[in-house]
Amino acid sequence: MSFKVQGWCPGALKPMQSGDGLVVRIRPRLARLSVEQGQGIAQAALRHGNGLIEVTARANVQLRGVTGQNHAALLADLDRLGLLDASEAEERHRNVVFTPFWAPQDGTTALGQALYAALASGPDLPGKFGFALDTGASPVLSATSADIRLERAPDGGLVLRADGAAGGQRVTAETAVAQALRMAEWFVSSGGVSGGRGRMAAHLSRVSLPFATDATPAPALPQPRPGLIEQGALVALEFGILRAETFAELAERPLRITPWRMVLVEGATAIARAPGLIGDPDDPRLRVRACTGAPGCPQGQQKTRALARSLAAAVPEGRVLHVSGCAKGCAHPGRADLTLAAGAKGFGLIRQGRAMDLPERILRVTDLTPELLSKAF
Ligand code: SF4
Repeated sequence: MSFKVQGWCPGALKPMQSGDGLVVRIRPRLARLSVEQGQGIAQAALRHGNGLIEVTARANVQLRGVTGQNHAALLADLDRLGLLDASEAEERHRNVVFTPFWAPQDGTTALGQALYAALASGPDLPGKFGFALDTGASPVLSATSADIRLERAPDGGLVLRADGAAGGQRVTAETAVAQALRMAEWFVSSGGVSGGRGRMAAHLSRVSLPFATDATPAPALPQPRPGLIEQGALVALEFGILRAETFAELAERPLRITPWRMVLVEGATAIARAPGLIGDPDDPRLRVRACTGAPGCPQGQQKTRALARSLAAAVPEGRVLHVSGCAKGCAHPGRADLTLAAGAKGFGLIRQGRAMDLPERILRVTDLTPELLSKAF
């Protein structure tokens, strides 16, 4: 088993090379795109990339297939749309995921702007270190990757919690950002960073947290499913990716980008229908995860998404099948009920584990039928 750990996330100013060209990640401020920005991203994907747009597990948007030659023109377009940071460092530090269910009066957007401003001159944090502003009516981001979380308390107040700690400290809208920065500074000064990498939960397994942990956030809601909700329409994207033309259709209204490979179409009263969009909460494709795989990813050992699509209907309700292009497991870093991890000779079958775990057997692609899969669950 071998794969390359990058240890950093791509940005717009610092894209990542992949098998299908540069991956350019855009971090929309407050995870929201105005109509002009959404339409502009769709046009930019067609003009400068391969016409595919991905929504990531950190609620970012990325264009694929951008050539080195087109990168400068793409940056100029993003700058015109207000989607470009002033420097690579600012872009890297603006690593904040938002609840998409914020309301105008709940303070989330003001906290987000204040946190952005503070991070611009804050400590030098690892590329994957991030913040979650989970300050809607109830927390919804507990399963989303983040290192410092600001969450709603049962009484409507705010709790600042280090990832990996069961509880946190009470803060107010006035003190939250300063306290979050203090926690980030402690993480760095207490040795949380090694070789430019480091995550809070792993650090807390070695070092005691010098902040209060007696405040408990409100119970987290389960991960939302597609459908109509108070703020608009939640639409899932098959494997988190869609054509720019479809993205443009969704972006006829402002979009909130979620970390669940869904977008919230603000104010929509109907679910858009187009290839690659999922509006039915019982659609079996919601039970499968699959990364780019071969040939789009240079580390991919096999094709993934066509296989995942062909097997989706065999995945029982409430279970998850992860089809991974290699042992790295980008599409689902945690455990899945069943994982098929690609290798040179086929796919390793792993139950209740991760793509990097030892498979119980290797299956050829031609063996992987829906019948075999239903027996494996
Ligand atoms: S898991 Fe998939 S996307 Fe990640 S490195 Fe492997 S093949 Fe590439």
